[in-house]
Formats: sequence, structure tokens, C-alpha cells
Amino acid sequence: MVVSVLVEITSRNTDKMFDYVVPENLLEKIKVGVRVAVPFASRIIQGFILEMKEESEYQELKELIEVIDKDVVLTSELLNLGQYIKETTLATLIQSYQVMLPKALKASKKRKTTIKYERWFHLAMDKESALNLAKNEQQKEIILKVDEEGEVLYQNLVMISPSSVKTLVNNGILKEEKKECYRLAHSNLESSFTHLLTQEQKQVVEKVLTNSKRTYLLHGVTGSGKTEVYMALIDEVLKLGKTAIVLVPEISLTPQIIARFRSHFGEIIAILHSGLSDGEKYDEWRKISRGEVKIVIGARSAIFAPLENIGIIIIDEEHSTTYKQENNPRYNAIDIALKRAKTHQCPVVLGSATPSLESYARAKKGVYQLLELPHRVNGKQMPKVHLIDKGKINSKASLYFSTILIDAIKLRLEKGEQSILFLNKRGYSSYVTCQNCGYTEKCPHCDITLTYHKSSMMLRCHYCGYAINKKRKCPVCHQDSFRDLGTGTERLEEEIKKLFPTARVVRMDLDTTTSKGAHEKMIYAFSKHEYDILIGTQMIAKGLDFPLVTLVGVINADTSLNIPDFRSGEYTFQLLNQVAGRCGRKDLEGEVYIQTFNIDHYAIKFASISDYQNFYLYEMNFRRQLKYPPFYYLTLVKVLSKNEQKALEISTIIAKILRRDCRECNVLGPSMSNVFRINNVYRYLVLIKYKSEPKLYETLEKILNHYKTQAEFSIEVDFNPLFVS
Ligand code: ADP
Ligand code: ZN
Repeated sequence: MVVSVLVEITSRNTDKMFDYVVPENLLEKIKVGVRVAVPFASRIIQGFILEMKEESEYQELKELIEVIDKDVVLTSELLNLGQYIKETTLATLIQSYQVMLPKALKASKKRKTTIKYERWFHLAMDKESALNLAKNEQQKEIILKVDEEGEVLYQNLVMISPSSVKTLVNNGILKEEKKECYRLAHSNLESSFTHLLTQEQKQVVEKVLTNSKRTYLLHGVTGSGKTEVYMALIDEVLKLGKTAIVLVPEISLTPQIIARFRSHFGEIIAILHSGLSDGEKYDEWRKISRGEVKIVIGARSAIFAPLENIGIIIIDEEHSTTYKQENNPRYNAIDIALKRAKTHQCPVVLGSATPSLESYARAKKGVYQLLELPHRVNGKQMPKVHLIDKGKINSKASLYFSTILIDAIKLRLEKGEQSILFLNKRGYSSYVTCQNCGYTEKCPHCDITLTYHKSSMMLRCHYCGYAINKKRKCPVCHQDSFRDLGTGTERLEEEIKKLFPTARVVRMDLDTTTSKGAHEKMIYAFSKHEYDILIGTQMIAKGLDFPLVTLVGVINADTSLNIPDFRSGEYTFQLLNQVAGRCGRKDLEGEVYIQTFNIDHYAIKFASISDYQNFYLYEMNFRRQLKYPPFYYLTLVKVLSKNEQKALEISTIIAKILRRDCRECNVLGPSMSNVFRINNVYRYLVLIKYKSEPKLYETLEKILNHYKTQAEFSIEVDFNPLFVS
């Protein structure tokens, strides 16, 4: 017997299968989709069995060394999916398989089992005989406890006496048994209730149930009860004996949403997100693979959950950019969902208050079926939005807050209500500049200014992590006139504490949530009203549902407007809508204050009146004129090199080849990327626009293969990129 093995090396060179002979003693263990250890060059490496056959066309095959898994890791569905990812992203096949598995299961050089075991003890004889053999009181106590409970965990016996446990085992009185266990502990948030669906919600559920092979776009304003609809749909799917996948963006995978699902569905849920340790992820994955759970909730990669018999796939906040992976393989979870749904003949529900232009355009064309929840549950009004012109702020009290906003926060504090303040910039200041000579501190490895972090007195690069101590004097003119300009969340917190010395303030950003569980703890504390004001970045924009929050302040709406990307308007509209949706969700009315220099910008205007329709029309018009998605497809080719000249040279060649071979494309560039240098690597871009281009994949694959042995530069191909810079 011979097996074809895809080895773990991720280079384009070795992305093919190698044949190995199966020795007699491993014949029983081999299956397609398990990991094996094989000799390769002069090393031993891992790989996946992709095929089993009687003979090989090659001579002098080496022998398989070991079969690692008892159970199949890559099911036949996942094997096909990997092929699909390779074909649609031009990543290597091994990368496409690796991305679907938890770290513990990836073929890798360092092999460590991360299954966790618990030590259980039971009596090896009847109680009387055991007690007769006991030498002291502690041994007796242990015997009695074990007899009473039948079986006891080691942790509960060592408290009595570790040495006695050992003696009892050695003397054959106690017997130890190791049992596999799962690590993830359940969150202890109170459960929420499930509600009777409103008429609008019911109609949505019924529509999805009538045709199970469609893709639905659920456009529902924030607080319209989308999550409740998801749960009702899953109820129906479970009744049919089927399973469900729910994707949410990483940052909105909060204890709140998990608790809501747990309290409704109980223990049949597995959870996958980046906050889990590798061991916890592995445990959740095994629960799924063994069919012990029916529902998987997770971030992007949960779309690969090895569930059988899927009855529905739900993608919440479908417009979220986190569904696209930013490195190889550059897949989009929505595409994977559509592909899996086809295999399982099940519906996909894409939900959002602000659907991406691509999705909404598809719904308008009838590719997706549009479902709408235009009202908040129980007739709650959308919050009232006030636009504040930053150009006209001349508050004496503060540089960053207008008087109107300060008064509004004050009112909430007096009434015992909560406020959320949003600023999409962490750190203390945006940059440090010498007032005397104009010198600005920049990262020596990246083309970007350093951000001052006051608590650590450091200047940090937000791209590569480079950090230095803040200097007092300018290194150029040696004057004592360094000033930090611009605001970050850290400074905002300081300012708020100055303005409201008695308010209880909590800040949530990348810097305050690095430790495990910090994020959850802060949200929990805020939900218990242990804080009056929550300050944060992106992280707080999504998913949170706090009944006492009646004010949302956006300190600077222009941060996302100013990113150099054709989608900046769309991102700004989505972000403002999301943030605003955090208030006035229950009984109390909410108000939103948006500070901006661009009070007349269409994205800000339409967001302030929650007018998705008109935003869509306006934005579509602009996309049509400039030939951007959804009217045209985009593909981005990046050439990266430490050698600036080389990057330019290769990207020029690539642009030339594309212009020659892909006649229906509009090829732009090469141009320097927005941040030209990151970590000393220069980046040139070639952008391709097209309606349909039959030769594009083929041409790009040829280019990648042609340069596959090059070490001096690398080429990245990104189909349907979300950020073009
Ligand atoms: P969305 O996901 O659209 O933002 P949610 O499902 O979180 O909306 O619902 C918003 C709020 O309304 C939540 O507090 C939820 O518990 C409540 N809610 C949802 N559906 C109902 C219903 N049918 N009856 C009463 N309350 C509901
Ligand atoms: Zn840097």
C-alpha cells in the first residue's frame, strides 16, 4: 500500500504530494485526512494523507514513519474546501489546509499533545476491606470520601493528604484513572430571557424557513432584534436534527452574546475565538468533531468548524472587515460559508445594520434575498444624533470636548446613567513634534510617526512595535520644545478625569486589554454599573448591549474618514452607525454626539440620520463613476522587498505582463503603498480592475510560480481586497 502525503512545508516549491510506502504495522491505521510523520530530505516532517493507492509511479519510495491521529482531521468536506481555497486565493494547498485547523492539529515540527487529562480515583475493593487496611485517620477519611462520591478528582483529595493518596494507590486500595477533559470554563454572567418574537421578527424567520437553499441578507437596524431572530432560526434547525454555525466579528464575541446563546441553548455550544489558549481551542474543536455540540459560535476561522449536517450558517455584522483574512490564504469567510452551504444544502443568513455595498447590491439584484427589520424592538426610537462642528469648538474647559458634550455627560452622571466615548486612536498623542524646528519623531523602520504612550513614557510604532523612551529635548535643535499633538484614548481618559473627578472611568483599548480575560472583566464591570463612563477604540463599537447607556460621544469622526482608501466613506458610515447603536437600547432614550471637522460630508450626514438607503445610493454613484466595487472587481498585487529598487523593478514587470496578457483588465501602477515602508520592507502595488477577466487567475499563477524560488522579494496576490493601500 502506498499513500500520497502533502507535506507541511509551505513553500510553493514543495506544494505537491509525495508518495510513501506503508509498512505492515501501520496498515490498520492509515486513513485519508490523518496526519503522518514522514522522512523528507534528511529530516522527519509531518503531512496529511490525501490519497491511498496500491502502487506508485515512482521508484524507490521511502517508508511512512508514523500515523499521528486516530481520527480523521481533514474530513472529505474540508479536503474539498482546501482545494477551493487554493484555487480562489492562489495560496498553497498546505496553507489552505493549515488555516482550517486549530494550532494543536497543524502538521508541525514541534509535536506536543495538548489534550488535558484529569486524575480521578475510585476504590479498588469494597469499603470495609479498604477501611481495614487503612493505616491512619487521613487514609480513612480519603476512603470514606471516595466511597461516598464513588469517584473523586485528585484536587479534592490532596487537600486531605497528598502522601496518603499515594500510599493508598501503592497499596492497591485506591485506583487512579486518567480521563480526557475540556478546559474551557463557562462564563458566569446571568442568563437573559428569550422573548416572544415580534410580528416583524416572525416574518423574517418564516421567510428563511420557506426556502432553505438561499442566501439571505438581513438588513436590520441596531437593536431590531437580529440576534433573537438568529436564535429562533437555530431552534428550528435543531428540531430537524441539524447543526448551526454563527460567525460574529472577533471584538463583538463578548461574554454578553455568549451568555445569551448559552442561556437559550445550554451546553450544546462550542466557542472559538482568539482569546482562547491553544489547548482550549483544541478542546472546543474536539467537541465539535465528535458531534458533542450542535452549535458553533466563533470568529472568522470558525467557518471551518468540522460540523456534520449543517442546517444554517449565520454571519452577523456581515460587513465586518474581520471576515477577510489579511495573510495567506486570503480567504473571505462569506465565500466559504456560501460554499459550505451549497454542500449541505442549507441557507446562509448575512445580518447587518449597515450591509457592505457589495452585499446590498447583490440583494437588490436578487442574488441574495433581502429581509428587513427597519424598526427597533418594541417601538424604541433610534437615538437622536447631534453633529458638532469641531472647527467651532472653543470650549474653555477642554481641548477635546465641546461644551455641549461636556454638559451632556454631566447630565448623565447626575441621573446615574452611563456614557460611552469613542475614539479610534489609542495611546496618548498621535505624534510628537518639536515646536522649534518642526522635527517629528518617526519610526526608523516604517514610514510612520511614533505614538506617545504616557503610562509607559514610551514612543511606540503601531506598525512594527518599535519603542523608545520619550526624550525631553529635540535631537535636532536640542531645544526643550517637544510637544505631543493629537489625541489618543489615554489622553482622553486623563482629560475626562480632570473634568469629572468623581466619575468612575474605564478605558478599553489594545493597551488595557492585553491580559487574558481583561476584556470580559471590563465589560462585566461596566454592565454592573461599576463605571459611569467607558472610553474606547473600535473595540467598543460592536455588539455591546447595556440598558443604562444613554449617551454615546464620538470624539473625532474624521479618523476613519481620513484613511486613504476608496471605502473610507463606507467604513465611516458603518462605524458611526454601530457606535450610535450602543445607546438607548432598552427603556431609556439615547442621544449621540458626533464631533467632526467634516460636518457636511455625506457619510457623516447620512449616518447622523440613520439613512442607509440614501447613503447607499450616493456611494454607489461614486463607485460607478470611479469604477470601483461593486461595479468592478479588484485584485491587488503587492511586491515586497528590503531592496527598494528590486520591488520597483519586479512590480513594473508584473504590471507589464498583466497589461499584455489580460486585455480586459484595467491595470494601475505600480505605485507606492500608502505606508511605503514597514519594518524596512518596501511595498509596491499593482491594482487590477475588471468586470470579467478569464485570463487573470492563470496569469497571476504563472507569475507566482515563475518567481517561486526568489528570496530577495515576495509577491502577494489579494483577490477582492478590503484595503487597497
Ligand atoms: P440586534 O442584534 O439587532 O442589535 P438584539 O437581538 O440584540 O438586536 O435585540 C435588541 C434588544 O431587544 C435586546 O436587549 C433583546 O433582548 C431585545 N429583544 C429582541 N427581540 C425581542 C422581542 N421579541 N421581545 C422583547 N425584547 C426583544
Ligand atoms: Zn515601525
